[in-house]
Amino acid sequence: MFNLVLFGPPGSGKGTQSGFIIDRYQLIHISTGDILRKEVGSETPLGLEAKKYMDQGMLVHDEVVIGMIGSKLDENQHVNGFIFDGFPRTVAQAEALDNLLDFKGNPINIVLSLQVGEESLKQRLLSRGEVSGRSDDNEEVIVKRIKEYHAKTAPVAEYYKTKEKLVDIKGEGSVEEVFTLLSAQIDAIIEA
Ligand code: ADP
Repeated sequence: MFNLVLFGPPGSGKGTQSGFIIDRYQLIHISTGDILRKEVGSETPLGLEAKKYMDQGMLVHDEVVIGMIGSKLDENQHVNGFIFDGFPRTVAQAEALDNLLDFKGNPINIVLSLQVGEESLKQRLLSRGEVSGRSDDNEEVIVKRIKEYHAKTAPVAEYYKTKEKLVDIKGEGSVEEVFTLLSAQIDAIIEA
């Protein structure tokens, strides 16, 4: 089994690259952002509660997202592995994920961290907002999401660095160039 965390700030290309990675490596894609947006769309109690935070660019509570991940892992028992996208976003979430995976005997193999400068992030998110219809892709909320990233999510990189699982990837080239860098890292582990 191969478990990958795709890490990086909002707008760093995690969703796009996840699509390519799942196609090539047949992994199960777990994006907490996508799961939450589905809940919001279906107006479930969880979705209605989460929306308040998402629309303000704030993180949804750890217990909520950790619970969602637990269910996803249980739903997908005999698989090649998982790609976690937009999760873990706090150190508490990273610890919870380690506990869940250790219990199953399949830890995280690698954390690929996309490096993209602040100005490019803002530009990408603003242009995505013009087509995505996402209520959190407007300038005011984008600034808050990036702030929340620095405060709560950036420490997750340190967490994995200590565990010697973190690899930085230059995230500013073309989609194909970034994918080439990511797949070289994945291949090195799979073929080892
Ligand atoms: P981004 O494009 O900003 O990386 P996502 O689609 O991953 O966005 O997430 C959108 C919003 O959903 C976040 O701003 C946050 O409110 C919520 N969210 C997604 N994943 C998590 C998580 N792991 N923990 C807490 N909140 C989350």
